[in-house]
Amino acid sequence: MNEKILLHMCCGPCSITTVQTLQDQGYEVTGLYYNPNIHPLTEYAKRRDGCLEVAEKLGFKVLVKDGEYRPQDWFRAVAYRENNRCFHCYANRLERTASIAKRGGFDCFSTTLLYSKFQKHDDIAALGRDLEGGKTRFLYHDFREGWKEGIALSKEWGIYRQQYCGCLYSENERYHKELRTE
Ligand code: SF4
Repeated sequence: MNEKILLHMCCGPCSITTVQTLQDQGYEVTGLYYNPNIHPLTEYAKRRDGCLEVAEKLGFKVLVKDGEYRPQDWFRAVAYRENNRCFHCYANRLERTASIAKRGGFDCFSTTLLYSKFQKHDDIAALGRDLEGGKTRFLYHDFREGWKEGIALSKEWGIYRQQYCGCLYSENERYHKELRTE
C-alpha cells in the first residue's frame, strides 16, 4: 500500500515537480493550502487557485484552509522578530501541517518550500523533524532538483507565478526601488 503524505503547498509553480517527484516515488499525495503569510488576500487567492489548477492537472486533492486565513495572527507571531521572521513563518505553517497530518493518519508530511532556492532548507528540515510524532514523520527531500523543469511547466500550463515570497515585508523588499529617494 502506498504511503500517504500531506504536502503543505505555498503556490502552484513550487508544487508541480515537487508533487511529480513524490508521485513517481509512489506516495499518495494530499495537498494543504494554509498560508496566512501571503498578503494581501487577493494575492493569497491567486496562489491558492494556482495550487488547485496544479492539483487538477496532476490528479490529487487539496485541503484549503481559507477559514484560517488570519494575517493579523501571523503578524503577531513575527512582531519584533522581523529579522528572523522566516523561521517563525515556517514554524507556523509546518506546525499546522504536522497537526493535520497526525490527526488525519498520514504517514508523513512535507512542504513545497523545499522546492525554493530562496528558503532556508536547514531550518525547515530541523523544524519538520521536531514536529514528527506517532507514526507521522517529516519527509525531507531536496526538491530544488526540479527547479528549471517546474518553472518551464508552470509557464506552459499558465499557472500564476508570484513576484515576491509572500508577506508584506517581502513585497516591500521586492519593490523598494519604486520608492523615491529624495
Ligand atoms: S519572506 Fe516568505 S518565508 Fe519569510 S516571512 Fe515572509 S512570507 Fe514567510
